[in-house]
Amino acid sequence: MKQRTIKERLEFTGIGIHSGEKAKIVLHPEPENTGIAFYREGVRIAVSPANVVNTFHSTDLGSEGVVVRTVEHLLATLHLLGISNLTVEVIGGSEIPIMDGSGYFFYRELKGKVVKQSEDAEVFRIDEEVRVSRGDSYIVALPCSCFEITYEGEFRDYLGRQRYTFKGNVRDIVLARTFCFDHEIELIKKNGLGKGGSLENTLVIGRDGIYNRGGLRYQDEPVRHKVFDLVGDLYLLGASVRGKFISYKGGHTLNYELVKALYSRLVMK
Ligand code: ZN
Repeated sequence: MKQRTIKERLEFTGIGIHSGEKAKIVLHPEPENTGIAFYREGVRIAVSPANVVNTFHSTDLGSEGVVVRTVEHLLATLHLLGISNLTVEVIGGSEIPIMDGSGYFFYRELKGKVVKQSEDAEVFRIDEEVRVSRGDSYIVALPCSCFEITYEGEFRDYLGRQRYTFKGNVRDIVLARTFCFDHEIELIKKNGLGKGGSLENTLVIGRDGIYNRGGLRYQDEPVRHKVFDLVGDLYLLGASVRGKFISYKGGHTLNYELVKALYSRLVMK
């Protein structure tokens, strides 16, 4: 697999789901071996497990006191497209726009603009089983030449238990939106989060159904979104990943535990 960047710069504007701030992001093509980085207020923040500053309700990166929030959906889209060299300039707010809560808008604009570069891309391969857990949730990573993710979640009442396996077809996950349960909203707001959240960018699940007028985009949309989040968090490793992953009720914090465990093995080699 060759390294990839984009043909020309691309812009997105929108509000951050947690900050409620409007921000513009400008994606700049980069030469080979640059890697993926964010750039805000004069500081370059490389995508690396070492720069993760928060995993509570979003994955945030920071360096020298400058933070870029909610990077996971953009990173997931870049991972799925195999884009290895790119700088994401963040202007105005501090958070990546949530768009419609999925990766759809990023994917739609980026997919026709991907260009192959001449050098080979680094690929991170799982060489033996790695397992992380937290309470009753866990994630297992297994060796495989594939990139496959299974997510299982238990959603009381309306959705029940859901299990989904992603086998590499982008369209199976890229439309799946961020979600929350109606009973969680108060607590999310109390934590100072979700200020930009609305039915325009979040699937809100109640005891008896979905609040969003259009309903679900996939009958198991929440677990597909969880897979999408993990695809994004795995890209914190700084390279495309090959392996088989099984997540039981994992979220950003556990995803990051896995990334750190995988990264330390890489560094030891
Ligand atoms: Zn998400």
